Amino acid sequence: MSHLSEYDPEIAGAIENEINRQRNGLEMIASENFVSRAVLEAMGTPLTNKYSEGYPGKRYYGGNQWIDVVENFARERLKQLFGAQHANVQSHSGSTANMEAYFTLANLGDTIMAMNLAHGGHLTHGSSVNFSGKFYRFIPYGVRQDTHRIDMDAVRALAKAEKPKVILAGYTAYPREIDFKAFKEIADEVGAAFMVDMAHIAGLIAAKVHPSPIPYADIVTTTTHKTLRGPRGAAILCKAQWAEKLDKAVMPGMQGGPLEHVIAAKAVAFKEALEPSFVDYAKNIVFNAKALATSLIDEGITLVSGGTDNHLILLDLTNTGVTGKQAEVALDSVGIYTNKNMIPYDPRKPFDPSGLRIGTPALTTRGFDKDDMREIGVLIAQVVKNYGNETVYEGVRRKVKELTEAHPLYPGLTVL
Ligand SMILES: *Cc1c(COP(=O)(O)O)cnc(C)c1O
Repeated sequence: MSHLSEYDPEIAGAIENEINRQRNGLEMIASENFVSRAVLEAMGTPLTNKYSEGYPGKRYYGGNQWIDVVENFARERLKQLFGAQHANVQSHSGSTANMEAYFTLANLGDTIMAMNLAHGGHLTHGSSVNFSGKFYRFIPYGVRQDTHRIDMDAVRALAKAEKPKVILAGYTAYPREIDFKAFKEIADEVGAAFMVDMAHIAGLIAAKVHPSPIPYADIVTTTTHKTLRGPRGAAILCKAQWAEKLDKAVMPGMQGGPLEHVIAAKAVAFKEALEPSFVDYAKNIVFNAKALATSLIDEGITLVSGGTDNHLILLDLTNTGVTGKQAEVALDSVGIYTNKNMIPYDPRKPFDPSGLRIGTPALTTRGFDKDDMREIGVLIAQVVKNYGNETVYEGVRRKVKELTEAHPLYPGLTVL
């Protein structure tokens, strides 16, 4: 019996149940993934005990010689992975990373241009209930109503009219490739800094399955736990000219002590992402997403922008008679995990929007292939089209069991 299950059966029990939920369900939330055993091990270490405010070689506390080794490996591997000039691996989350990037590039109250939240932007890209919308003047750009793709001519016209300090690209629900070069040209035309938030697509960029923003952007933020398949957290890359200001914006500007057990796990994940097998993984994410999109289209489901170039798919449920929230809850009940999502020009409200977002990073890690994806597309369509029909749901539950048993998650792992 583990120390945890002996001392705290309530928490140990909930952890055990959560592991079983992950094992027995289809994890299709586009922002989630399953880390390796090596990453898990690195996180659960006594590195959590150490205070190491500052940076390698310049700490506010003693006893950091081994912590410095860990953080230096994390920084160097991340720079190598993306070909970047400078890396900071201390950001606790994607949201704080974005705050730190804004602190570096702009002054409070400055104008920042970013994607409309209903068109795929993130909460930290200017939502009025988020620090971003309170600290800065955000001007949203969006996608075209007919193509659901970013209209670069409209972005240019808006940039010329608003003269932003920063132009931000990188999204949370945009299924298409992003033209970073075109954004950079517009930023240069209006004298703006160019920032990219690659949280969702970092793994695809690392594997060169999506074009890289590194040659163009002043600062690139990323989470480490999405397609990059590392621990929950974030990192920031930048051009050498911003390095000092950025490091100061992270600490002391925004954060205190870094989470070095998580930084150790980030280092392990970056090593994994440098392996040739990670390129195959990232390619398979996209193959799988395309197979799933085709399957859904064959089932008569409408997709925002008509398909996908990356790891995620946005279903437009408008003509199904089921809302995004209803679909999410129904799919939850059969063990298919997704999230409701706004679609561009959504007539409904954020808490019960018309869309559903799904993605393939997590299931691809489990070894699901394109045939599995075709089957999952049919299952999702069955649940949506037979909303409330328990007999159909029961059949889907059986199929989910077969699929998850064919691709076991963490085989042989006993955490507790
Ligand atoms: C997930 C995400 C974030 C925020 O990450 P957290 O770690 O949840 O704070 C920021 N930006 C984008 C584009 C994201 O997709």
